[in-house]
Amino acid sequence: MKKLEQLYEGKAKKVFLTDDPDVLIVDYKDDATAFNGLKKGTISGKGVVNNRMTNIVFQMLEKKGIPTHYVEELSDRETAVKKVEIVPLEVIIRNVAAGSFSKKLGVEEGTKLLTPTLEFSYKNDELGDPFINSYYALALGLATQEEIDTITKYAFAVNDALKEYFAQANMELIDFKIEFGRFHGQIILADEVSPDTCRLWDMDTHEKLDKDRFRRDLGGVEDAYQEVFKRLGL
Ligand code: ADP
Ligand code: UDP
Repeated sequence: MKKLEQLYEGKAKKVFLTDDPDVLIVDYKDDATAFNGLKKGTISGKGVVNNRMTNIVFQMLEKKGIPTHYVEELSDRETAVKKVEIVPLEVIIRNVAAGSFSKKLGVEEGTKLLTPTLEFSYKNDELGDPFINSYYALALGLATQEEIDTITKYAFAVNDALKEYFAQANMELIDFKIEFGRFHGQIILADEVSPDTCRLWDMDTHEKLDKDRFRRDLGGVEDAYQEVFKRLGL
């Protein structure tokens, strides 16, 4: 497979075309942003952690019947993926109150939710990824009802698989964001699953092992990513 010209440079990854029209190459950077790009920095080694972690997680999810964009890991930062049309929804699942949920609803961070929740944001940087519901998504033509049903089913299945996967490494999955895409008419999991997109807390000490260390200037950012890498045996 030949790497051709760059299609897109995002905040955390570069995306390249290849000689196969169905395949892209993603290249994970160490760049970090938060608060819709207002805070910028570098987390040394992050790209390597996020690339490997996403690939291991996606292969595990495939085995559990969740289709993903994963094709082949090409290097420590580069992976071949199926080229999808991204559904412009950020799908957020929460098991424990944190972040914007805690702030908006006045629920203390760390409060266990009675059931896992799902919410959608409209993936639109100019608008700051606003919170929407499935009726908005339908009304705006972002996805069909059938696609929303599939996405919802897969998202909860991803949660079940990830909770167990992280628990084995003594980490609690607080919440996470995933994205889906359309590939030849099918909905498949795309983008990434990493400490950039998940909140992971140590089960015993509740120490944060994710991007909140960067967002909130908690220090030990690189160490947290390396700790996740080590605990998951990546
Ligand atoms: P952002 O665009 O939010 O800054 P990234 O830096 O992670 O994010 O850029 C990666 C971009 O590639 C994202 O917009 C993401 O939706 C998109 N993407 C992820 N996986 C695929 C895929 N398999 N096919 C096409 N686009 C993808
Ligand atoms: N998240 C993400 N990208 C975003 C927004 C959120 O990966 O653009 C993840 C975030 O890492 C967390 C979850 O989604 O694991 C829920 O985030 P929340 O809505 O609490 O937003 P935040 O507090 O990060 O603004």
